[in-house]
Amino acid sequence: MKERTVMKVVTPMAASDGAGVRLKRSIGTPTLDHLDPFFLLDHFGSENAADYIAGFPMHPHRGIETITYMLDGSVAHRDSLGNSGVIGAGDVQWMTAGSGILHEEMPKVGPKRLDGFQIWVNLPAKLKMTKPRYQDVPSARIPEVTRPDGTRIRVVAGDVDGVAGAVREIYADPTYLDVALPAGGTFEQPVPAGHTALLYVFQGDIEVGGSGAIPSPRLVILSDGDVARVHAGSAPARFLLLSAQPLAEPFVRWGPFVMNTQDEVAVALKELRDGTFIKG
Ligand code: FE
Repeated sequence: MKERTVMKVVTPMAASDGAGVRLKRSIGTPTLDHLDPFFLLDHFGSENAADYIAGFPMHPHRGIETITYMLDGSVAHRDSLGNSGVIGAGDVQWMTAGSGILHEEMPKVGPKRLDGFQIWVNLPAKLKMTKPRYQDVPSARIPEVTRPDGTRIRVVAGDVDGVAGAVREIYADPTYLDVALPAGGTFEQPVPAGHTALLYVFQGDIEVGGSGAIPSPRLVILSDGDVARVHAGSAPARFLLLSAQPLAEPFVRWGPFVMNTQDEVAVALKELRDGTFIKG
């Protein structure tokens, strides 16, 4: 087994998106445009409603999957296909935008705070125009594995100790874990060789393969290998482990679209103007 080590540590950048939501962005920045197949990693978290209440009014997506995972608070969504719902604390929404949706994502003022993540996973050329699809998973349906040392792992996607994640049948063959490590704890997890893998530490600090302490919040890009081994410092730590198969295809990103060519982006923009963007 080859252990994955730290290739790079990225400090999230303060950003504002939608109608003025303040967030921390680690992928999709001038420093790190993408990490094939991940094209965005946003972490939103605030006790101040003014930081998020403007939300993300109606906007399109095409050619990608957007994955929203909430830790606290909730986001109401509504789309052009007639879907609507609320993504609450612990819930995940795995949306395959495919040929296109128009939707709004509006955080609700909660009793405490809003906390969560949105990532984008690129779709391969052959699925760019696939029919849009949702996997909406309420918190209660996300399996949680507890290891003997008290480590708790929520399995959004992938496999932990033989427990299959809630989200299935995704092209990128992703792993999406939310791992809570006790102080001084160690977490070990096989990650398929050749897959892009990263950690996003958002509580406490961690150490990977002799890296020294990595504080939160940080994005940690892992080298290739078969297994990831993460140690918590002297306080409990919590992080996401994400992995997926890279596409290695040409791409053109334009705002909320990721296509393979400039022409495909031009078509998407023309269809938006013409009102033919939604394929039903
Ligand atoms: Fe969106």
